[in-house]
Amino acid sequence: MTAPFTRRAFLGTAGATTAALGVGLTTVAPAAARTAPHKPDPRATLSPLPLSAVTLLDSPFRANMTRTLAYLKFIDADRLLHTFRLNVGLPSNAQPCGGWEAPNVQLRGHSTGHLLTALAQAHANTGDDAYAAKGRHLVAELAKCQAAAPAAGFTPGYLSAFPESVFEQLEAGGNPWAPYYTIHKIMAGLLDQYRLSGNGQALDVVKGMAAWVEARCARLDEQTMQRLLHVEFGGMNDVLAELYLVTKDPAHLRTARRFDHEEMFGPLSQGRDELAGYHANTQIPKVVGAVREYEATGEDRYHRIAAFFWDTVVHHHTYVIGGNSTEEHFGPPDELVCRLTDDNCENCNSYNMLKLSRLLFMHDPSETAYMDYYEWTLYNQMLGEQDPDSEHGFCTYYTGLWPGSQRQGKGGLVSAPGSYSSDYDNFSCDHGTGMETHTKFADSIYFQSGDALYVNLFIPSEATWERHGVHLRQETAYPKAESTRITVTEGEGRFALKLRIPGWLGARGRHAKIRVNGAATGVKAEPGRYATLQRHWRKGDVVELTMPMAPVWRKAPDNPHIQAISHGPIVLAGALGDREPNTFPAIDPRSLRETGEPLRYTARADGAEVTLMPFAEVHHQRYTVYWATPAPRQRPRLLAHYALDGTLKDTTGKWPDAVLSEGADFAQDGGVGLNGTGGHVVLPRGLITGLDELTVAIRVRADSLTNNARLFDLGFNRRTFFYVNSRTGSGRSRFSMKSYGMDGEDFVDATGTLPVGEWLHVAVVVGGGSAVLYFDGAEVGRRDGLVMSPLILGATSQNFLGRSQDTRHPYLHGRVRDFRIYSHALDAAAIGELHASQS
Ligand SMILES: [Zn+2]
Repeated sequence: MTAPFTRRAFLGTAGATTAALGVGLTTVAPAAARTAPHKPDPRATLSPLPLSAVTLLDSPFRANMTRTLAYLKFIDADRLLHTFRLNVGLPSNAQPCGGWEAPNVQLRGHSTGHLLTALAQAHANTGDDAYAAKGRHLVAELAKCQAAAPAAGFTPGYLSAFPESVFEQLEAGGNPWAPYYTIHKIMAGLLDQYRLSGNGQALDVVKGMAAWVEARCARLDEQTMQRLLHVEFGGMNDVLAELYLVTKDPAHLRTARRFDHEEMFGPLSQGRDELAGYHANTQIPKVVGAVREYEATGEDRYHRIAAFFWDTVVHHHTYVIGGNSTEEHFGPPDELVCRLTDDNCENCNSYNMLKLSRLLFMHDPSETAYMDYYEWTLYNQMLGEQDPDSEHGFCTYYTGLWPGSQRQGKGGLVSAPGSYSSDYDNFSCDHGTGMETHTKFADSIYFQSGDALYVNLFIPSEATWERHGVHLRQETAYPKAESTRITVTEGEGRFALKLRIPGWLGARGRHAKIRVNGAATGVKAEPGRYATLQRHWRKGDVVELTMPMAPVWRKAPDNPHIQAISHGPIVLAGALGDREPNTFPAIDPRSLRETGEPLRYTARADGAEVTLMPFAEVHHQRYTVYWATPAPRQRPRLLAHYALDGTLKDTTGKWPDAVLSEGADFAQDGGVGLNGTGGHVVLPRGLITGLDELTVAIRVRADSLTNNARLFDLGFNRRTFFYVNSRTGSGRSRFSMKSYGMDGEDFVDATGTLPVGEWLHVAVVVGGGSAVLYFDGAEVGRRDGLVMSPLILGATSQNFLGRSQDTRHPYLHGRVRDFRIYSHALDAAAIGELHASQS
């Protein structure tokens, strides 16, 4: 959710990202790539077993759901109706809510939509009429508010907790806080009340809202409409297309398509990843809507958009726990650990990615990739977003991944990373999606087609497959146990049982085993596919699926020496107590030991023993998911050398040529001339990967000095870098390095600045926890006790001479030549010789 008071300034860092990394990679992506682009059917091939047909048995999922159910019973509907009533002049003496539902917050009303959905799911899944009754009360009262809209001066059909004038601001080019986002939540809640809880009045109210949306948008030309779509609008196309699938009223589909955001859909339909810099959760619901529009229209383009987006996000923008985003935004593809903070992985994003995965799966069940991702994200992020100590299922907003992040404390302030929500004083988007997530675990365990039942998730449950009059019971301690056991408890018939054989099994070439009534089946159980057990099933038949698990180290795509560890589908995190590391703890992978308790290991990190446990179980303490793993042994050598004396070649022959950019050019009397207005040199990606010590040297002639102009800057973005500049505000040249989430940076100030108009040999040597800066072979600055090692930087994607990672900084004005990187820390004598030599 874009929140004016949590949103942080964001400067896109889209840059050259085309070059290969030049290192062996194991993806951290939690699902294998889809291989076969099947021609999917716009009519979904599968449907889920309805919530009413599946009951959760004891498990962490049921425990989470129980807490959220308690909240749904507890919450006072009239407090959530308060601002709706006041908005149309109806009386209310309820106590106003706080947080994002406070009477002066523009997003007010969105939580009522989430509540309607959660109540409908809870009713469908438990059969308890108390949830339906609360839903009926809310719907009836919202209907009264809608009926009162014209008398309050609003357009008929308008239903909201804020005045309609906000939409006038939006249409006039203003930037109010996401008014259609809130309308979407209310409409979706009403539609769920109809679909899941059988509330006919809810359908009437949502149809009235749809008519209002249609009237509102009909007055706008396409250009105005597209401009308006820049403001977060949730899944308006989604709910309207879904409404069309219920009503078959062409107006609903027509209105849905007015919300097709071409700035996003255009590149996606052509298979281009232009997501960097976009607010993530503003985009995901639009793409969920594209699947619904595909169902409604049969137009392939919608499916292409959704399938490409899913592949792109899951394989190039997703952290090892299944979530995406840094401070709510997408970054450049495959740049992940260079963007770790306390504010990664907004939980709503994953809630929406799971919706998308589930819908895509229902159109293309040939592979397990969609549901592998679903499982992975469910266990590693969603299950853990909720506070197990809260009676009401409070959730965090972000799931931070910078080492030392935590889920903690009592909610209230949404802006405190990792803090849990509360009864009435939070109402963030994630409190809302949390209510939904934790009341629908039962909806993706089993799916059906005509004569096949798919078992997707290994969550203890009972299910009734009405079509065949069959009852099943799934019992398992998975993932603490490696197997699950499915028993036919009632009925009989000939059908196929299709078991998901998770793609993660493929990581170690392990094989699933399937036994029916104790006997091996010989059925193919290929990871990433569904194993089909076709037979005449009878009461008492027992299927046992065993999925061997082992620890797997997972390298980050942007830094092979930063790794996470998983076991089966579970990401393990280091439980750090109240220890807050300054950067990635250094782990010794060889020290990993089983504890005897399932999914718990110990290892040595930063010289002390640390416990690793399922990430979702780490609460009320600091944790790390990513670790620094040992650097490869480097032969001391000149690693790269760009003389830049009329040639752009690397003299070691290992690297691609440098590129002169934006007016940089060879000077007749040596080196590359930089004009100070944009000219710079671009060096290949990955130059300093895998170095825990190094030397970087350059000859530079500054023709004028400006603060922050860089001699060189090797990094990813304006918070992950390794640079030397010509001058800081204090009048000294500085070496500095930093990784994104670090407090502060490791830096060394020289005794002075660069001379003007004279060539200077500048070298920085980093290693063994120290950094030394040299000018013309003489030490001019030193720092010991560095926080980070250069190993933390990884395969830096933006390596510049004369240009900063930060687009606000000036360019260098002068000359550069003889740029060198050594794979080791040169001593003072060697630096002296280097200075004296002529390159
Ligand atoms: Zn959110």
